[in-house]
Amino acid sequence: MTVLTLSACTGQHASEELSPNDDFNYVVDQFADLQILRYKVPGFESLTLKQKQLLYHLSEAALMGRDILYDQNCKYNLAIRRTLEAIYTNYKGNRDDAEFKALETYLKRVWFSNGIHHHYGEEKFRPGFSAEFFKKCVESIDASKLPLREGETVSQLVAELSPVICTPSVLGKRTVQSGDADVIKVSANNYYEGDLSTKEVNDFYTKLKGNDTITPPSYGLNSRLVKENGKIYEKVWKVGGLYSAAIEKIVAELEKAAAFAENDAQKKIIDTLIDYYRTGDLKTFDAYSILWVEDTRSEVDFVNGFIETYGDPLGRKASWESTVNFINKEATTRTKIVSDNAQWFEDHSPVDKRFKKETVKGVSAKVITVTMLGGDCYPATPIGINLPNADWIRRDHGSKSVTIENITEAYDKASLGNGFNEEFVWSDTERNAIKKYGFITDNLHTDLHECLGHASGKLLDGTDPDILGAYSSTLEEARADLFALYYLADPKLQELGLLADPDAYQAEYYKYMMNGLMTQLVRIEKGKNIEEAHMRNRQLIAKWVFENGQNEKVVELKKRDGKTFVVVNDYKKLRELFGKLLAEVQRIKSEGDYEAGKNLVENYGVQVDHALHAEILERYAKLNLAPYKGFVNPVMKEVKNAQGEVTDIVLDYTEGYTEQMLRYSKDYSFLPTYN
Ligand code: ZN
Repeated sequence: MTVLTLSACTGQHASEELSPNDDFNYVVDQFADLQILRYKVPGFESLTLKQKQLLYHLSEAALMGRDILYDQNCKYNLAIRRTLEAIYTNYKGNRDDAEFKALETYLKRVWFSNGIHHHYGEEKFRPGFSAEFFKKCVESIDASKLPLREGETVSQLVAELSPVICTPSVLGKRTVQSGDADVIKVSANNYYEGDLSTKEVNDFYTKLKGNDTITPPSYGLNSRLVKENGKIYEKVWKVGGLYSAAIEKIVAELEKAAAFAENDAQKKIIDTLIDYYRTGDLKTFDAYSILWVEDTRSEVDFVNGFIETYGDPLGRKASWESTVNFINKEATTRTKIVSDNAQWFEDHSPVDKRFKKETVKGVSAKVITVTMLGGDCYPATPIGINLPNADWIRRDHGSKSVTIENITEAYDKASLGNGFNEEFVWSDTERNAIKKYGFITDNLHTDLHECLGHASGKLLDGTDPDILGAYSSTLEEARADLFALYYLADPKLQELGLLADPDAYQAEYYKYMMNGLMTQLVRIEKGKNIEEAHMRNRQLIAKWVFENGQNEKVVELKKRDGKTFVVVNDYKKLRELFGKLLAEVQRIKSEGDYEAGKNLVENYGVQVDHALHAEILERYAKLNLAPYKGFVNPVMKEVKNAQGEVTDIVLDYTEGYTEQMLRYSKDYSFLPTYN
């Protein structure tokens, strides 16, 4: 509900403030549709030793849960990863063979997606090697290296995994969020076990929810729902429950971290999180979330747990993730201005008064520098986060919002002069605007989206927060994006000193429309429609304003030399349309108008114009770029003196992608192959 990811075109612009002569090696690897980058951690050296040690142990905890996400994404993921790694490290045949190369690429993609399905498109990626080749590879290596179940033979392993890898129809899609089929039955992920239907799941949780509508725990958040012999029950992810072996390791690192807490409030946060991991009690998770959101004093901060629910078609069960970070004080001056004025923005938004918050509580915003990414934040990572997700905690205690600037900076630096804007942007006017204002308006968009957008508005009394079901993620992202877009053009930003040029917003408007109408399609395979919530949201917004401004030609699609371009004719009217759609999306959320929400998403967010799509793919292919990016982490090391005491923590930026993945699989893998 609350993560901002990079759009296909963001990060493609150069920025004059950034030095192109930076000799840091940002680009690490490129394969399939993916590019692997490296991020810097500026300012780490000047932290205190105690802060560094805190970051170190939190960062270790961020890596301990890696296997959990693999298993959540699909029950065969750990078996496949371990089998492929065994082949990759032990294969004695010709490693230059085309099929072996394809197997290597496939394994790199499995690492990137934490499983066999595309991290963004949700579909299973297709191997460039045959089932016969897979069989040959498995049989060629020592059986003791393979993740065999007790009593399982090598041929049984091959028979089980081969169709999962090679047959497209088997477990074809990780999370299905629309269509006529039962979304629980057709999703390949591992949040539900046994032959459960959507109705059975909904009935189970409706009953559990009971009458607590004021401060309801997020039921279902930290468990797999299982149907066994007709009985439906939860397997809770906790110490002593499902995923215990990994969670115990997380807890052990959190305990070490607690000893280096900056203050008592932070120590209590860590202790409460440990308590939650031990008990699995969602009320304790809420208590932790409240302590966490109220701590705005600590410089070091982190997220570690079952947080985001994008992977569950019903938006209830959370994937495991972690980020570890410290504040970027200088850049936080900007977000502080935004958050200090949250009430003004809420009062002046174009939505109906009945849906506005009378008092915006505790929206805190900061710019952070990450030191470690884990679980569902790795290697693909958000550029902004706003938490916690529970509506009632946001209502009563506010939310914490971050913009991750060492990540956006890496995107920016890695994309200098890659030819993207030359190909897709209409003219030099737009290109120059993007060059001049792209970086700052992007970051401001993130600030406004996270800190104000998600935090704005309220539900009418009695509206069920879960009613929008499979459409909730897309609509929530649309709400936050529209809030940001609407205010980027507001003179208030000049008054607050956030943006000097009153026309600077046009750079972001142009990019948003170009991306939503055209260029984000580079991420979609030919013939497919849009699945991912953020992408659906972007097309929903762009198509809706395009259509609703068509009579006045606010935005046009123009052809030049057989190529399609987005042309924005009237930026002022475009802003009005963003405002109008914001009012409607807020109404849908506040009233819980499922039908209207469904129509918006299905009519504007999902269907792809296949002719335009084919054209965009062809133009993009010539640029030899990768539409998705992810990151390797720095290696964090303790420096010890002769007595064995830690005297410093240092970062190393030389590890490659494959090296890092193999090291993580060796040092941070604690779960059985099947869970
Ligand atoms: Zn968001």
